[in-house]
Amino acid sequence: MFRYRDEGLAQRIIEKLKALNLDLRLMHVCGTHQDTMVKFGLNSMLQEAGIEVRAGPGCPVCVTTAKEIEEAILLARKGKVVATFGDMFRVPGEHQSLADVKAEGFDIRMVYSITDCIAIAEKTDKDVVFFSIGFETTAPTPASVILHNPPANFSILSAHRLIPPAMEALIQMGEMKIDGFINPGHVSTIIGERAYEFISTRYKVPQVIAGFEPLDVLIAAYLLAMQIRTGEAKVENEYARVVKPEGNEKAKRIMEAVFEPFDVSWRGFPVIPGSGLRLREEFANYDARKRYEDALSELSSDYREPEGCRCGEILRGLVYPEDCPLFGTMCTPQHPIGPCMVSIEGSCNILFRYGKHRIGV
Ligand code: SF4
Ligand code: SF4
Repeated sequence: MFRYRDEGLAQRIIEKLKALNLDLRLMHVCGTHQDTMVKFGLNSMLQEAGIEVRAGPGCPVCVTTAKEIEEAILLARKGKVVATFGDMFRVPGEHQSLADVKAEGFDIRMVYSITDCIAIAEKTDKDVVFFSIGFETTAPTPASVILHNPPANFSILSAHRLIPPAMEALIQMGEMKIDGFINPGHVSTIIGERAYEFISTRYKVPQVIAGFEPLDVLIAAYLLAMQIRTGEAKVENEYARVVKPEGNEKAKRIMEAVFEPFDVSWRGFPVIPGSGLRLREEFANYDARKRYEDALSELSSDYREPEGCRCGEILRGLVYPEDCPLFGTMCTPQHPIGPCMVSIEGSCNILFRYGKHRIGV
């Protein structure tokens, strides 16, 4: 059986890459790819072969803005029950996290799924708001819930985002050269190969959809190197054992029936056109931003990042976590200052957990 952690095969791929005499910078946009890169020491192996791989905005918790967190906090302070996933709990808004506000006595719940949140709404007369985050992978689930007549006291505060517009923004911003993208496996199971084609066509940037095992990532790097060498720019699918060219048509239909894209800023980024998902007008009753528009209008439009935190630059791939002077000293998973240290998909958290040592493939 083909083993995705075969060290001998990994070394052979690296040797082949070394023979190509490369000087490339690739980017991935996925927290699990970053986990694989750091856990298995792929960064240093690939660097020996002339390939630098930068992590981009691949952590949905990290790219959620301080303003969106402040919206959730304000709704809790206004007496709503606010529910969200564990990682989101500890990410600071401008001054406080949802966990801090819960400690003051406001009703904020940590849930494992939106279904738990519906169960809460069914048992209370209070208004219940689900702070819903994630990329294309997670958006179909809340969309399906909305299509199944949830309780009238339930609504969604959407911080869902779409990956391809962010990849395009990274190229358009032009802050650094990106020779190719390693595309995220889970997102691609939903959106398929074709959703990325415009990036290769418009900007001549090669892309390879990759799985999450070390050999998946190394093979993706090899395929990208081959495209670059031959002057090609197309979308290849290394993860064909899971990702279909068209993606998951049913999940896409559900997502598109409920959500529509809109322009939204990401942490560390300016407004990215068409990169957010909001509920369509026909579901306005379930849209917390519409339902509580008056309450939310109290919020300022501008929020500062935590002082000294470089998450914004990390999410744009410009610096590494160890470039932040707070990394591992003032900022640790126990006392996180920025979102990249809170979330298990965040680059700072991943580096802190595994350290810089190589543990082998
Ligand atoms: S949801 Fe999956 S594919 Fe998307 S960033 Fe997270 S780990 Fe990567
Ligand atoms: S180490 Fe902490 S403060 Fe520094 S960039 Fe990462 S999350 Fe922000």
